Amino acid sequence: MKLLLATHNQHKKEEFSKMIPSEYELLSFDDFNIHDEIEETGRTFAENAKIKSDFGFLKTKIPCFADDSGLVIESLNGEPGIYSSRYAGTGNSSDNINKVLEKLNGIKNRSAYFISVISFTTEKGNFIFEGKIHGEILTQIQGEDGFGYDPIFKPNNYSISFAEMTPNQKNEISHRAVAFDKFNNFLKNNSLK
Ligand code: IMP
Repeated sequence: MKLLLATHNQHKKEEFSKMIPSEYELLSFDDFNIHDEIEETGRTFAENAKIKSDFGFLKTKIPCFADDSGLVIESLNGEPGIYSSRYAGTGNSSDNINKVLEKLNGIKNRSAYFISVISFTTEKGNFIFEGKIHGEILTQIQGEDGFGYDPIFKPNNYSISFAEMTPNQKNEISHRAVAFDKFNNFLKNNSLK
């Protein structure tokens, strides 16, 4: 069974490819030479995820899923939220991290969560699955693995950041893994035809 993942983000593809059961063949835009930059014009994670999975399904007619994800920081009124990938305006992760660290400078409440919303579009319609992981923003970067805000996010009940975890450790607890588990249960219990 083929499943298309609507993303150009290699890190996301790698994380999903470690989660997906072997009976599925995971394809991405590169396999179809699709290079379009999809405009994320939605106001919520779910709207943006749906824009991407609808686009992929319309282009290929293969059941298509997409994740829209981001970091939500309590004392910054939910920033960077849906703007997580472009928060500093440069598209560069270190700039995004520096902007967060500057904005939180001197602020005590560093609670935050990562959220992933998976949208799945098939000929039967559209389905949405959500995962979150709560934690806090560190005062400086820790670790070198992972991507995005991983070096400044420490999940609750852990003493290390996402960037200090092995990929397997992160994939057991991450927002993306929680959303993916719900999606995977849906796949097990529903026929796609
Ligand atoms: P999206 O491609 O619009 O979903 O952008 C998600 C952005 O949120 C990424 O570019 C990262 O900046 C951030 N993000 C989402 N998930 C993670 C994660 O697991 N670790 C670190 N940053 C993440």
